[in-house]
Amino acid sequence: MSDNKKIQPLQAVKGMNDILPPESARWEALEAAMRGVLQRYGYSNVRVPIVEPTALFVRGIGEVTDIVEKEMYAFEDRADKHGQAEHLALRPEGTAGVVRAMIEHSYLRDSPRRLYYVGPMFRREKPQKGRYRQFHQMGIEALGFAGPDVDAEVILLARTLWRELGLKEGEDVTLEINCLGQPEERRAHREALIAHLEQHKDVLDEEARTRMYSNPLRVLDTKNPAMQAMAEGAPKLLDFLGEASLAHFNGVRALLDAVGLAYRINPRLVRGLDYYNLTVFEWVTAKLGAQGTVCAGGRYDGLVEQLGGKATPAVGFGMGLERLLLLLETLNLQAPVQAPDVYAVVPEPAELPRILPTLEALRAAGVSVQMHAGGGSFKSQFKKADASGARFALVFGGDELARGEVGLKPLRQSQDGSAEQATRSLASVADWAAELRTA
Ligand code: ATP
Ligand code: MG
Repeated sequence: MSDNKKIQPLQAVKGMNDILPPESARWEALEAAMRGVLQRYGYSNVRVPIVEPTALFVRGIGEVTDIVEKEMYAFEDRADKHGQAEHLALRPEGTAGVVRAMIEHSYLRDSPRRLYYVGPMFRREKPQKGRYRQFHQMGIEALGFAGPDVDAEVILLARTLWRELGLKEGEDVTLEINCLGQPEERRAHREALIAHLEQHKDVLDEEARTRMYSNPLRVLDTKNPAMQAMAEGAPKLLDFLGEASLAHFNGVRALLDAVGLAYRINPRLVRGLDYYNLTVFEWVTAKLGAQGTVCAGGRYDGLVEQLGGKATPAVGFGMGLERLLLLLETLNLQAPVQAPDVYAVVPEPAELPRILPTLEALRAAGVSVQMHAGGGSFKSQFKKADASGARFALVFGGDELARGEVGLKPLRQSQDGSAEQATRSLASVADWAAELRTA
């Protein structure tokens, strides 16, 4: 063996992370908080595939977007016996797949739907803090609702989650909103914008000049100080909105005002995906540097029809879980450590057949029990019990077992400072299990 060549271990794909304990406990706590909030707003879970036909994302997200042009993991599957190979892609976002499923199962025929998903998304971006190649989103989609009421609802659902997590709105996270109007209104604005850019061609940088016709809105998103004045003076989309769009926008604003949610209207908020109309919004933080958007969404009334379904208004958002967890960590808002209720000290492993029924009875009664395994001295087992964070050690010592009992020792000091060891009867586990269970 020793003269064999050492086997080189393989590593995870760059930008794709392992999430191990104790980190994974923070994910579970976040997911549990999210599920609680989603349930209270009446959203149900959908689980759709991670791999979809590439065409779904090209049609859904838009051909000339960063995601489809540069970031998508798309590949050709193996050819079948007729030599036909499918073009498949790892999902870069969740909405297109959910909408495909709605259409495929005629799921929107009878009533509108409030849905959510949680899972990994894939984009080939340059990995950095808050930006990964496999990342996770929780997203919600409210399909079949046209009014500003549900726009406000999805925004408020996020606020409720922030509060639950201990994030302060207006301080840790702030809301930015905009109204993109309808495609006709955007076209009129686009023409005026291109005219404005042409008038100020002398201040445009290289990148702006190449983008001014293909995506003039993005030119306004510039960080170049020499272009700031030009960008400030550019025609604003809001000024091109007709009555109906403005009424919708004002409807959303009135509802946010009614529940005391402060927001900033950001006329340059456009979003990276093509399918949005009317309301768009982002929850942003100043505490994560450049990766400041933790939740982004808006209305996408045209998408269901664009993907071959019956025209259905819809609104939703995607929330980046890595960024949210980074923010919570930065603010020291850690999830409570998950510790067992009880650590079972088993000095004599040969006695396990007599011990195990008690441990099983405790678990059946809802007590979380970590059983010491692998032997070792009484002292070393007690050390492990302490390190586990458990509130109690159950000591299955020989003397206790002989009396049909087990020792119960509090490991965390109680309010009055007592940490006395007591005994409990093995015959009546059901009577004392409740005192070990976390409330
Ligand atoms: P950005 O402008 O940061 O690239 P985006 O507009 O591409 O974001 P969306 O497609 O709207 O992002 O996705 C919604 C949310 O998902 C983002 O606000 C962010 O929190 C998260 N997200 C997007 N891309 C990544 C990534 N590569 N790594 C981690 N989180 C991401
Ligand atoms: Mg992006």
